[in-house]
Amino acid sequence: MSGDPILTVDRLMMRFGGIVAVNELSFAAERRKITALIGPNGAGKTTVFNCITGFYRPSGGAIRLSHDDGRSIQLERLNDFRISKQAKVARTFQNIRLFPGMTALENLMVAQHNALMRASGLTVLGLLGLPSWREAEKRAIDLARSWLDRVGLLDRADDAAGNLPYGDQRRLEIARAMCTEPALLCLDEPAAGLNARESGGLNELLLSIRNEQGTSILLIEHDMSVVMEISDHVVVMDYGVKIAEGTPQTVRDDPKVIAAYLGAD
Ligand code: ATP
Repeated sequence: MSGDPILTVDRLMMRFGGIVAVNELSFAAERRKITALIGPNGAGKTTVFNCITGFYRPSGGAIRLSHDDGRSIQLERLNDFRISKQAKVARTFQNIRLFPGMTALENLMVAQHNALMRASGLTVLGLLGLPSWREAEKRAIDLARSWLDRVGLLDRADDAAGNLPYGDQRRLEIARAMCTEPALLCLDEPAAGLNARESGGLNELLLSIRNEQGTSILLIEHDMSVVMEISDHVVVMDYGVKIAEGTPQTVRDDPKVIAAYLGAD
């Protein structure tokens, strides 16, 4: 894929003992586009996410994030904390990982912990001209409330996250990731467990995040209607390697892709 990549994965390798989960995988995700990573169960998709987001240290290869201002960061050398803070990569998980006992609003405030701590430290140091703690806290609350509104949960702000219906929790996770104002948003099966109406709403939300925030999105998804409807580019993996890539229509009709999915059933 040509163009302006925000993420470049180059010959990525991930071994677990004798298992090669990702084998010389190369692909790019373009800036302000939605790139889908698809493939049958066990193809290696979540392992790629874990390498990109610093949960795993790759066995080989390189992962580069190129920011709008021209800065390039090699992610394969950083841990998950630095990848989220410095490289501004946010992710959600296959299984929802909210703080169930905290309210929806508190979950979004926790996501902004770094920004608040920075403001608090700077206030203590008395550095002039920098935002005060109170201003930073107000900004964090405003951002959290605006994302609750975007995902249709403003009226549930004070409800415990664990008491929300499943589809609401999925949207809350995306709102939490967006509160970190990421350059790259990585979503691991966001449509899993959603009904048709909810997954239609998810499509609209992701398209609006791409179009309004200009956020680049990397998406793992098994629901092909979601992939076909919102992806700009699709990368297909099977047994750790890339077997195809292109537009949703191109990969859907690719005999290698059809064979991989049929073989997996
Ligand atoms: P699914 O669509 O079912 O979530 P996937 O494409 O995300 O699958 P991965 O979860 O990345 O696939 O798994 C790829 C391979 O790597 C599998 O064979 C899996 O068992 C193996 N694997 C992943 N993580 C580990 C680990 N921590 N230790 C050992 N093997 C692992």
